[in-house]
Amino acid sequence: MPNKSKSKKTLHNCSCEICKLHPYSRIAKEHKAINRVLIGLDERNKRRFVGVLANQQRNILQLSQITGLSRNTIYRGKSEVEYPRQNSASGIRQSGAGRLLVEKNSPEF
Ligand SMILES: [Zn+2]
Repeated sequence: MPNKSKSKKTLHNCSCEICKLHPYSRIAKEHKAINRVLIGLDERNKRRFVGVLANQQRNILQLSQITGLSRNTIYRGKSEVEYPRQNSASGIRQSGAGRLLVEKNSPEF
């Protein structure tokens, strides 16, 4: 079976102080768990997942440290899960711009 192509993705290591100082603490494990979830997701679902975490009163700076995603990405994911309709209409294409080249043909939104 030639289907054993391993994905080249690597687990992001959280760089927060807690993970550095207490790598076996509950929080460090939680951060690892987050990254383990993220590794299975594509870009869009990644930022949405982190967006959900951000909505749960998590510190965005910290989330950025944990996940390796930029703060902008997290903000975007946050607003995508908060206002999915608004986001699908605006931001990606401007009215009158004509071309829709991004995220048009993904079935699940
Ligand atoms: Zn951490």
